[in-house]
Amino acid sequence: MTLVENEDAVDYKCLNCGVCCESLLHDRQGVRKGLPLLPGETEIFLKSHIRPAYGIGSNPRDPGFEVIAYQMRLAHCPHRRLGGCDAHAYRPAVCRSYPYIPVISHGLRVVKTFDMTCTALAGARERYCGGMVPVLQSSVQTEAEIYPLVASLTERILMDVSHSWFYNLRTGRWVPLARMLPPDTH
Ligand code: SF4
Ligand code: SF4
Repeated sequence: MTLVENEDAVDYKCLNCGVCCESLLHDRQGVRKGLPLLPGETEIFLKSHIRPAYGIGSNPRDPGFEVIAYQMRLAHCPHRRLGGCDAHAYRPAVCRSYPYIPVISHGLRVVKTFDMTCTALAGARERYCGGMVPVLQSSVQTEAEIYPLVASLTERILMDVSHSWFYNLRTGRWVPLARMLPPDTH
């Protein structure tokens, strides 16, 4: 994936297929993650669908432990409708910035990348025979503007990995973030 500004590039446009809104749970190394939410976004969903996501502190039982982000626990978003998203005007930042996603790379750096499972991009990749897909920069401008808000969460937990925790939806328990990081990122 590369961003360019020429007429041969892919003009990115969401196809409204709903795949990204109906497969929101991700399991890795025994940890289940849901749709990430910034602290001010929890009211977009029913209270019973919200769980904490990232927390900072020595121990989740400590009184000073701070929850800095939340997650929605369902695989299928309750806002998804056949015609699209019924929360479109106030949908979470992670939905606004998609298909941009932050990835933790070697040296604990946050790297901006595209989620190639997005149907619009997967289709484009087929056209380019699995090679680098040139995307029209102006067609992902809005998503790029929101992305820093989403990335700031990942950046914050990486500032002090030894005091960062993630709430595992599978077990209902907090997991030290250090235990979730792939070994090649340290
Ligand atoms: S997977 Fe991609 S194309 Fe489909 S709804 Fe989500 S953003 Fe749009
Ligand atoms: S809030 Fe809207 S865009 Fe976000 S996952 Fe739900 S249906 Fe999809």
